[in-house]
Amino acid sequence: MSDELNNPDIPIPEVLAGSIAITTLDKIYNWGRRSSIWPMMFGLACCAIEMICTAASRYDLSRFGMEVMRASPRQADLMIVSGTVTKKMIPQIVRLYNQMPEPKYVMAMGACASGGGPFKEGYNVVAGVDKFIPVDVYVPGCPPTPQALLHGLIAMQKMIDNQSILDVKWYKREATEAIPIPILGPDLIDPRDYVRSAAAEEKAAEPISTD
Ligand code: SF4
Repeated sequence: MSDELNNPDIPIPEVLAGSIAITTLDKIYNWGRRSSIWPMMFGLACCAIEMICTAASRYDLSRFGMEVMRASPRQADLMIVSGTVTKKMIPQIVRLYNQMPEPKYVMAMGACASGGGPFKEGYNVVAGVDKFIPVDVYVPGCPPTPQALLHGLIAMQKMIDNQSILDVKWYKREATEAIPIPILGPDLIDPRDYVRSAAAEEKAAEPISTD
């Protein structure tokens, strides 16, 4: 632990080496979160098999403190979207995302979750989960191998390493608003589109200045 946390710019007397670690608040705060990311236990399609494999003994997610897959979004830090995101499934995905407490992260695992994959433009498929929820890390592949998923998780750890307690969104005064749940009718309806089109109509109705 001391090797990871010691600030190399501040010398520690030899007699105290091994007993004292000098670090910054950001570093220890990030170290705690990056070493205990609990993924939510859910999968959508074939990519999920690779995710399950990653959690098994050969690849051993517990090396990263991530082996505790939670069955409840309220106890999870990371949503791994592993598989094809269908229009029928996206309302549930957004609802689960909203139920996760901050700090929370999202990983798009595989071509389907990242952009629709082989089913892009399919009548029933969302062309990327990032159309609805913010994605932190994309893992390419169809399916990505367990090694690729581990690489994505390490990339996420590096992203966390660079965060600062001073500007992370979950300590801002403004509450983070929940993402409106898409509605599945004859086709998928994103409630945010109404707000966008109402704002566009309002802008179009404004009188044109002749100055
Ligand atoms: S990216 Fe490939 S392996 Fe993953 S869910 Fe889509 S089709 Fe299946």
